[in-house]
Amino acid sequence: MTTPEATAEHYDVAVIGAGVVGCAIARRFTLDGARVVVLEKAAEVLDGASKANSAILHTGFDAPVGTLEADCIRAGHAEYREIRDRLGLPLIECGALVVAWTAQEAARLPALIETAHANGVTDVAPLSAAQARALEPALGPGVAAAFRVPGESLIDPWSAPHGYLAQALLNGATLRCEAEVHGGVRNGESWRLETAAGPVSARLVVNAAGLFGDMVETRLLGAATFRIRPRKGQFVVFDKTAAALAGHILLPVPTATTKGIVVCRTAWGNLLVGPTAEEQEDRTTATLDGPTLARLRARAEEILPALAGHEITAVYAGLRPATEEKGFRVRAEPAAGYIAVGGIRSTGLSAALGLAAHVRALWDAPLRPIADPVWPAMPNLAETAERDWQRPGNGGIVCHCERVTRREVEAALTGPLAARTFAGLKRRTRVTMGRCQGFGCGAEIAGITAGRLAVPMLPRDGDE
Ligand SMILES: Cc1cc2nc3c(=O)[nH]c(=O)nc-3n(C[C@H](O)[C@H](O)[C@H](O)COP(=O)(O)OP(=O)(O)OC[C@H]3O[C@@H](n4cnc5c(N)ncnc54)[C@H](O)[C@@H]3O)c2cc1C
Repeated sequence: MTTPEATAEHYDVAVIGAGVVGCAIARRFTLDGARVVVLEKAAEVLDGASKANSAILHTGFDAPVGTLEADCIRAGHAEYREIRDRLGLPLIECGALVVAWTAQEAARLPALIETAHANGVTDVAPLSAAQARALEPALGPGVAAAFRVPGESLIDPWSAPHGYLAQALLNGATLRCEAEVHGGVRNGESWRLETAAGPVSARLVVNAAGLFGDMVETRLLGAATFRIRPRKGQFVVFDKTAAALAGHILLPVPTATTKGIVVCRTAWGNLLVGPTAEEQEDRTTATLDGPTLARLRARAEEILPALAGHEITAVYAGLRPATEEKGFRVRAEPAAGYIAVGGIRSTGLSAALGLAAHVRALWDAPLRPIADPVWPAMPNLAETAERDWQRPGNGGIVCHCERVTRREVEAALTGPLAARTFAGLKRRTRVTMGRCQGFGCGAEIAGITAGRLAVPMLPRDGDE
């Protein structure tokens, strides 16, 4: 319990929410010289929309032209490529094929190529059905036409935001988990926020609360300018044996409401099919349902018939923080020390660094950038580079399906961004994400983590 008399810690910038957007914003302000605190209501970071996505680093080729979203994807994509070596982040430059399966879809491809050009993605190339099939021999019958987008890439959904936040923390930012923001008042030049972890004061508040962005805005300003309408996406993950069936990210022709069902590899070497786009009221629970998963599998087998012989490793679902409008909902009131970054529904992983630069530019307070910032090296989890199990002195393999070592688990439990929950450990190491889903290694991991997680590991923890 906090009391009105409790003394507030003072910061330049309070970022509400440690999703990928909040992590990128915290990094930007910290590197630019601000004293930053990140306030996260969950026990662990990346606990909202950012815990489950398709992990595509989009070019923005199909974004609505001239929008903030298009600008932020372009800038975010460029900055990711610029910094990823220094942070040790993966980039699988496989490109995408946008595949038309009917004559009507094929008729829409020229307009999509025009949109790509208008978005500055000029290297897209139209392909005949035969050319598409030459690039992707496992494609099923019925391809009408396609085009290739070389810049669409795959990344690791979690190492990137962890890297952004780790860099912020190593350069002076503070992270408070279990610090739900309940409300706040603006007194003169600064806010006093009431949080579950005590009061915090800051000159600028950035609301990056994702699926709860509108509720946080109401708590701070009395009313919200947007309303979150969660949109669920379910996925099926095929075994690693299936990954060889698709070199490119296989995209359908998008519609006005969804990018559609994608088939692509993952950084972990699996093959992913999804996501669906299902509106719901619930902001926290993304349930899976058998008929929808069966439909996803059936669609995947139409796209790649050879998938029929492959096993499924896992299924999962995520929630997009969609709103009643399509675009990003950035509300900036610099004089009131408030910026909301809402409605970052389906491209936030790609756009986060661009959004962070945009938000920084909206606040004109003079700051002195850190001259020589520390760059953390994130552990590599992707199959495209050397893994820890291939190096000596790793303490042996703990999770045999995903080849995660004891040294990786120990490392994830230490440092400024140590895992605080079992789900957090999973996102930092890949433990229990393989075929056995923790059946084989659960007991050993529970032993290693005993007494070291804020939320202890439960046998057969069901988090994705
Ligand atoms: C199915 C699916 C597929 C996707 N595929 C892709 C893709 O391939 N490429 C891509 O670029 N993007 C993709 N996305 C989009 C991307 O995942 C989202 O845009 C992004 O995760 C949104 O992040 P966020 O930080 O805005 O929100 P969140 O991740 O929800 O973060 C908000 C944080 O705020 C915290 N919070 C909430 N209320 C409070 C409070 N009162 N006090 C303190 N903290 C609070 C929450 O706990 C949460 O951690 C996909 C999304 C989904 C769901």
